[in-house]
Amino acid sequence: MNIVIFGPPGAGKGTQSSFLIKNFNLYQLSTGDLLREELKSGSELASQIDKLMNAGKLVSDDIINSLIEKKLGDKSIENRIIFDGFPRNIEQAKTLDQLLTKYSQSISLVLNLKVDYSVITKRISGRVSCSICKTTFNEFFDPPKLCSNIKCSTRTMVKRSDDNVETVSKRLKTYDESTLPILDYYSSKNIVKDVDAMTDIDKVSEQISSIIKDLKS
Ligand code: ADP
Ligand code: ADP
Ligand code: ZN
Repeated sequence: MNIVIFGPPGAGKGTQSSFLIKNFNLYQLSTGDLLREELKSGSELASQIDKLMNAGKLVSDDIINSLIEKKLGDKSIENRIIFDGFPRNIEQAKTLDQLLTKYSQSISLVLNLKVDYSVITKRISGRVSCSICKTTFNEFFDPPKLCSNIKCSTRTMVKRSDDNVETVSKRLKTYDESTLPILDYYSSKNIVKDVDAMTDIDKVSEQISSIIKDLKS
């Protein structure tokens, strides 16, 4: 099954995607991660993307759709994709449906991670990740000394340049204006399940597990 993991910045989409990968043999397709990979190329396009990301604005639909289409044609991940951070507006949601139809696939579930905006700033300003394996930690909630992945044994944690208070408020505004309306689009298809994402990481994972198990049974 293909899943959209939905919620504002800092809701826990990446964290819960890691859980899904381990437990349900799914593949995470994060447009944010793909864009950050693109930034490393140092191209002209990369510098445009960098400006938009640091301003908390959305990157153009053309760029995003071409990143996505490349992946949807990949048979090795067919029907086991978690879309993380995509779609981000109605246009992207409609394009995704068209592309999935073209590749004889669909979305079975939208996990709506619900959080109060009051917790978001702390989650995002504390977010760090292992420079080697990209596992995400939080300086406030589970301060990493070493990466928990034994293969890494690194002490190097990196922070995203857009994870600062000023950009977060812009990202939330973009989320409210452009991204949130997608929920109505998916609700009309009866595929949205709400998840209380204010609780501990493990408790959120438990809710997600039971939703997926119910759907499969
Ligand atoms: P998103 O992908 O939605 O932007 P992340 O999964 O990267 O969010 O999580 C943002 C930060 O909040 C990370 O530092 C992560 O460790 C932390 N976090 C995620 N889920 C929870 C939770 N349920 N409770 C407390 N902190 C969390
Ligand atoms: P978060 O997990 O905190 O919500 P992401 O890593 O998903 O953040 O996104 C970081 C930034 O990358 C966004 O603020 C936006 O500028 C850009 N971005 C990511 N995904 C998309 C998308 N589907 N469409 C447009 N811009 C995107
Ligand atoms: Zn690591």
